[in-house]
Amino acid sequence: MRNLSLGTLYRALGLLVDAKLLSSMAFGDGRLVYELNDGKRHDHLVCTACGCIHEFFDAQIEARQKAVADDLEFDVSERQLVVFGLCAECRKAEVRVKTVVRQ
Ligand SMILES: [Zn+2]
Ligand SMILES: [Zn+2]
Repeated sequence: MRNLSLGTLYRALGLLVDAKLLSSMAFGDGRLVYELNDGKRHDHLVCTACGCIHEFFDAQIEARQKAVADDLEFDVSERQLVVFGLCAECRKAEVRVKTVVRQ
């Protein structure tokens, strides 16, 4: 694995996403986050100060999204909900919001 290039690694990750073993999410700041796909639908809260990610599931949000899509006769193939803000820890520490953009 010592000579594994990043390109090779990303291609491998892409294959695992295609095979639905992993899911990937774009978190807006240039980060792509991969996680094991356990088949359980959930959404994410992302702290823009420390970068921590909290997962949550809300049946009402799911139901509303489905209702909106149904109204528009929209066949949903994929959906992502990412909420950005400050986590409880960072709010406590009064860290100023700082978006880290990775090139
Ligand atoms: Zn935080
Ligand atoms: Zn997740």
